Amino acid sequence: MNDHYDVIITGSGPAGLGTAFHIAENSGMSVLILEKTKISSGGLRNDCKQNYTFPVGFTTDLWQQDEADSLLDEVASHLKPEYIQQRNIEVYIKRALNLGVKLLDIRQAHVGTDKSKDLIAGLINSLEQKGVTVKLETEMSGIDYVRRRVTLADGSTAGFNKLVLAPGRAGYTWLQSVIEQLGVPYHDNIVDVGVRVEAREEHYPIVKDYYDPKFIFPQRVRTFCTNSGSAHIVKEKYEKYYSVNGHAYSSEHRANGLVNFAMLRTITLTDPVVSGHQFAEILGQMAMQLSGGQPMMQRIGDFRLGRRSKKETFNDDLYDFQPTLKNCTPGDVSLAIPSKILRDLWRSMKMLDTIIPGIMHPSTIIYYPEIKTYAIRPEFIDRYFQVKEDIYMIGDGAGTSRGITGAWASGIRAAQGILLSR
Ligand SMILES: Cc1cc2nc3c(=O)[nH]c(=O)nc-3n(C[C@H](O)[C@H](O)[C@H](O)COP(=O)(O)OP(=O)(O)OC[C@H]3O[C@@H](n4cnc5c(N)ncnc54)[C@H](O)[C@@H]3O)c2cc1C
Repeated sequence: MNDHYDVIITGSGPAGLGTAFHIAENSGMSVLILEKTKISSGGLRNDCKQNYTFPVGFTTDLWQQDEADSLLDEVASHLKPEYIQQRNIEVYIKRALNLGVKLLDIRQAHVGTDKSKDLIAGLINSLEQKGVTVKLETEMSGIDYVRRRVTLADGSTAGFNKLVLAPGRAGYTWLQSVIEQLGVPYHDNIVDVGVRVEAREEHYPIVKDYYDPKFIFPQRVRTFCTNSGSAHIVKEKYEKYYSVNGHAYSSEHRANGLVNFAMLRTITLTDPVVSGHQFAEILGQMAMQLSGGQPMMQRIGDFRLGRRSKKETFNDDLYDFQPTLKNCTPGDVSLAIPSKILRDLWRSMKMLDTIIPGIMHPSTIIYYPEIKTYAIRPEFIDRYFQVKEDIYMIGDGAGTSRGITGAWASGIRAAQGILLSR
């Protein structure tokens, strides 16, 4: 590692990669990527569904369709998506519209958790060939803004002309501390709260026609991140709670006949509770306390009858498949989800069951909590996501994106700003 770089990028997720590729391919600037984990590329590792239709994955207050479309072409030139063929979309769109529900028609590609490692290895190899230095297991801990140097966790330092911070959503506490140290104003008042639904594929057959259908219901509820084929539910660890999430392996893995997706309700908080992250922690901790430190799960059959799911009856009779998430506690989600959120989720589930009859089969499982915090949104001083002279903040952590392709596009936009200011 050298003592000084033209550009230092913290985080090798899609946002950081977007910046690195654009700069490496359009200038001779020296670039260093710092990545604290052993494997590079952040969220590209998870499932890696890629959405190529605006506004999916973009934060619409920061993006316009024309620009997003053109940057998505650049994203595709690196990720080389194999688009999934969709069928019968008009039928579903029409059924949904009858209920006031919107179904977005999106160009999608799916790599799968097992295959994404090859994609990532290829990307990093390509960056290194273009002269970019990639340092894995190297965590940035702090910044000396006046001297334009970053400090690493081992105490060493490196100088920069431009610094791009792309630490992802899980890096929000760290990003917040940097934002506060730099005196950059920010806000954080939005959060998505919901459940992950797991069902037999025959009870949600739309996935055979449309891999990741995005339904937008009234009351700010939407479906998100649908997985099928070899689909599994996982736990994500946050400081004070677990959130559930889902992913699928590529089509080379044996199918397990299950599908999972999130149903999320967006909440915008106002005075006096203004932090979406705080609200997420309150809800997450409450769920953990009610279910012995694990996420909870309930069969729809029990939920409808207003009774909790129990260990001894969880895989019985009509409750006829094993949950893919182990170490999850059968219980009663209605004890933990605030009623306003639960009401809207339930209403949307009923609408979904009218559009695709079957999803409310008694065997369907709802897992709680699935919480998506919306990042710390710093105030940008220009459209290139600069927050202070020479410092850029991008990706899901800084609220410029909400998905792989949007994160990569954010990285390109920051790189464009850096190239312009040379
Ligand atoms: C289970 C799961 C499944 C998902 N599936 C999909 C999907 O199918 N499609 C989709 O579009 N989106 C999906 N997402 C969301 C997607 O991963 C994110 O939208 C995307 O990765 C955001 O990119 P990013 O570059 O902003 O952050 P990240 O991808 O999170 O990358 C941030 C990187 O920064 C590193 N880092 C953080 N702090 C430091 C530091 N101080 N020093 C050095 N390195 C640091 C992290 O280790 C990480 O590698 C999924 C997320 C999860 C958790």
